[in-house]
Amino acid sequence: MTKALFYDDTYLKERQAKVVRIEGNKVLLEETIFFPQTSTEPGDTGKINDSKVAGLKKENEEIWHILNNPPVFNEGDTVNLQINWNKRYEAMKLHSALHLLAGAFDSEFKERAVAGAVKSKSAYLIFKNELADEIIQKALDQANKDIQKGLEIKTYEDKTRKGFKWCQVENYDPIPCGGLHVKNTKEIGEIILKEKIIENGKQKLMIGIK
Ligand SMILES: [Zn+2]
Repeated sequence: MTKALFYDDTYLKERQAKVVRIEGNKVLLEETIFFPQTSTEPGDTGKINDSKVAGLKKENEEIWHILNNPPVFNEGDTVNLQINWNKRYEAMKLHSALHLLAGAFDSEFKERAVAGAVKSKSAYLIFKNELADEIIQKALDQANKDIQKGLEIKTYEDKTRKGFKWCQVENYDPIPCGGLHVKNTKEIGEIILKEKIIENGKQKLMIGIK
């Protein structure tokens, strides 16, 4: 299995690791700082030595690094890992922004988001029904207030279920989450509403950060 270092420290930008296996342009390492994309989170890109990492592939407990070309290093070598930090940090901020905004809708208006995802430069939340403009604006204001307050964002593993993770923003209710977060809401900056869309009767809110 690959040791996933990005959960213990989401701020790791560089690291050395040992190559376990190479198959064509796929590389398996003992441990990695590269986050594999999921259906709701963009994955990392970056470099292993001078080879570009185009993406990741998770197979069971193994995280494969997909290079553009077959690597020039060998199994057993120690290599340098470097993630594209700007892309990662943007995703961490957007992901954390979704938590705050969904939290504001839920705690203030009992409107619970039914889905949400981070894309490369924006993110979205989906609600079962259309929301009034006034509610949307108030929830946004609340979330941006929480950002300015500089609330701590904690993540921790469930005590009984191994690999199951929780995320908690200050004193809000903890929620299950396997995404990557910033440590403090201040880092998010400001949430901006990009678009309000009705899709199949559901409300979709596209947001960005600045
Ligand atoms: Zn999360």
